[in-house]
Amino acid sequence: MEKAYHGDCKKTKRDPSCGSRSRARAAYADRVGRALDESWRRGYARSTMGILFHLREKRRQRALVEHPISDELWAWALGEHRIFRGLSVAEVARLRALTTAFLVEKRFHPVGGLELDDEFRVSVAAQAALPLIGLAEGLDWYRGFSTIIVTAREYRVHKRECDEAGVIHEYDDELAGEAFDLGPVALSRADVEASGWGDGYNVVIHEMAHKLDGRDGEYDGVPPLARGMDRGAWRRAFGEAFEDLRARLETPAARKPRRGKLRRPGGPRLDPYAAQSPDEFFAVSCEYFFEQPFVLAAEYPAVYEELVLFFGRDPRASGAVS
Ligand SMILES: [Zn+2]
Repeated sequence: MEKAYHGDCKKTKRDPSCGSRSRARAAYADRVGRALDESWRRGYARSTMGILFHLREKRRQRALVEHPISDELWAWALGEHRIFRGLSVAEVARLRALTTAFLVEKRFHPVGGLELDDEFRVSVAAQAALPLIGLAEGLDWYRGFSTIIVTAREYRVHKRECDEAGVIHEYDDELAGEAFDLGPVALSRADVEASGWGDGYNVVIHEMAHKLDGRDGEYDGVPPLARGMDRGAWRRAFGEAFEDLRARLETPAARKPRRGKLRRPGGPRLDPYAAQSPDEFFAVSCEYFFEQPFVLAAEYPAVYEELVLFFGRDPRASGAVS
């Protein structure tokens, strides 16, 4: 009976749930409710993230006091790496804070009986910290991993890749470093020691650039951009430069140039490895941005300008190597 009554009610009485106007009102209230709910959830997530970020920053401030880098070691790091020359006093202070936090939060895992000294650890941490100087989120950009695997030198891996035509290519490759999806970063000690000299080659910045790129879950040469940056302008600048480099190198897609090994006299001044894919182009561009900014700005000015916007600073203004 009760069921039948309610069934009738829906048609004959102006029950709030009956009639098109009431339904529209209910649907509207539902929509508004859901929108408020969603906006509250977003606000809550933002404020929770804000609190967590604040707590992490407090912890990093404490690390500066509890695990300081000695003045002697820091002076060595600044003197040994040409890419740090010309940084302002404020930039050096920020670099030291980021380097300290990196050393506290990341673990080094040497393999094959390799032993690492403090100079090596500080060298990796400081070069990894350099791109973060102008980024407000600082070390949070590297939150997705905590381990740095270190090999003595380049290591051989067997790769299997499928090209656009569906053909499988298998080959052995020698790697100076690697950034694993949602995992550690691997670095060859010999290549770390060859980085930071201002010659365009930097395995640390290269692998960290992949981590920046992958922060949005995709390794496509487009990291999450700063507020106000134009994604279309980024894609245009990088896309045109990438195609230009490929055309100038006439690199067949299947060819695998090794990093830093096949620069041709009179050819493009960028490492040909950048022509491998858009994400490698981004990583190599970052190497040049910090190692040889004048070279990148001359070769691909639009790419350089996008990187200035992204990294929040212009290394040319720091008296960088020309
Ligand atoms: Zn790479």
